[in-house]
Amino acid sequence: MSNLSSLTWYSRFVDETPGDSVVGGPARQVEGACWSRVLPTPSPNPSLQLWSEEMAKSLSITKGDLEILSGGAPSSGMDPYAQRYGGHQFGTWAHQLGDGRAITLGEVESDVGIVELQLKGSGLTPYSRTADGKAVLRSSIREFLCSEAMHHLGVPTTRALSLVTTGEEVMRDILYDGNRAFEQGAIISRVSPSFIRFGSFQIHTAIGDTETLRELVEHTIRNHFPGHQYSNDQQLLAWLADIAKSTATMVSHWMRVGFVHGVMNTDNMSIHGLTIDYGPYGWIEDYDPNWTPNTTDLSHRRYKFANQPRIAGWNVARLLESIAPLFDEPEQLSQILDVYFEAIGEQQNSMWAGKLGFDTFEEKDVELVRELNSLLQLVETDMTIFFRLLSDIEAPNVESLKFAFYEEDEIPTQQWNEWLLKWWDRVDATPDRIKMKLTNPKYVFRNWMAQLAIEDAEKGDFSLCEELLELLKNPYAEQMDMHSKWFTKRPEWAKSKVGCSMLSCSS
Ligand code: AMP
Ligand code: MG
Repeated sequence: MSNLSSLTWYSRFVDETPGDSVVGGPARQVEGACWSRVLPTPSPNPSLQLWSEEMAKSLSITKGDLEILSGGAPSSGMDPYAQRYGGHQFGTWAHQLGDGRAITLGEVESDVGIVELQLKGSGLTPYSRTADGKAVLRSSIREFLCSEAMHHLGVPTTRALSLVTTGEEVMRDILYDGNRAFEQGAIISRVSPSFIRFGSFQIHTAIGDTETLRELVEHTIRNHFPGHQYSNDQQLLAWLADIAKSTATMVSHWMRVGFVHGVMNTDNMSIHGLTIDYGPYGWIEDYDPNWTPNTTDLSHRRYKFANQPRIAGWNVARLLESIAPLFDEPEQLSQILDVYFEAIGEQQNSMWAGKLGFDTFEEKDVELVRELNSLLQLVETDMTIFFRLLSDIEAPNVESLKFAFYEEDEIPTQQWNEWLLKWWDRVDATPDRIKMKLTNPKYVFRNWMAQLAIEDAEKGDFSLCEELLELLKNPYAEQMDMHSKWFTKRPEWAKSKVGCSMLSCSS
């Protein structure tokens, strides 16, 4: 065991892809580069508040190094940079975005291979545009706890190592309604094989810079896709097929656990199929496929729960377009979209087999699942509790599921019992309960749980954050001592509260 500063640091991204000639400096349009060298901004009064012991173990480090984690001087071997990328935001090309408040310190060895360590909220970069490069405590807690929760749920994700409060106040307008207020600043450190996004490739193609695009593709394949090559169309197709499949896997997991990302812009799509950039995300409580947690998305609901598989496909299409200039015969690229939609179809079917306790999904199950989807929407029904109770049901009677309903006297009993009987026949009265319980988590990071933890933390008490971090390490286990406190529906106060049902990108 050592500490962060004494690890051996690498910077393959900086060494192998073109960079900006200017160091740091004002917000600007950068040309012909994948990154800009920039130093984090030190925090005036930093305090380490949350720490992932597991992530630390994976990096073989001991707790500490507050200076580095709060934006202080980089230690030897680190070559910090902000990444340049573009992206489609809400379906529209937004040109250069880039790491406006994230700074990658470098790469280190972990027990799952070489990973990048990045600070988020550590100050201005050339990509900060008109913003401040900072992050607030509220959104940093949301990212720290949710990324760890997702990991333990088995959902591919970036991870978090630390959360530091900076001792600085940051001005935010949570609902973009003119009500600005000071909030506590914070910095998290996060970990990923790389932070390369779909938008990292798009930015070069958008301005016709095929040479930089080629260098980035070569770097990405060489370092992050062992077994892949980049010399011809067939090799690039095989690489893109893997990205399409891992993206499908990630989104299927979101659908399984009821996660709504909220901002599936192409700059928020990891090339590794990892959930990245936790902003105005939310968790389905009442099963409403049309729900979006993001207030900016309320009018069109582009990123609502039910749209996620389709939107990820749209994003894959944008990635394919961005790699097209490297192809001799770019028309071949359309087959990768078929790969994506085939993969997501198969994954969704096996997800339903798991949720409903079948050995395998059969064609005839489509109708049963369709009926279930409409039934779940008849009255307010809690997704997590419903599927968990279904995993334990002894007889096809909705009576044993009634805790999942928000208004017990509204339960459409007859319709439910008819469906339950069909399902019971389908599984021969013996659903695969073990499979169901490993598919249907008992505890997820509900919107109001985050809010409770944040309210305490803003007063300096991080014990609820710690409690949730522990709880969510074993989301499929019964944890009976936690049952009555956390295996519970959304409380009435959370129904229309900012931070629970309403979230914005302001973070
Ligand atoms: P998001 O969709 O929240 O991941 O962010 C979209 C873009 O805005 C990214 O380029 C971010 O780096 C940038 N951004 C968000 N918040 C800030 C901030 N406070 N300061 C600088 N850039 C930001
Ligand atoms: Mg982002």
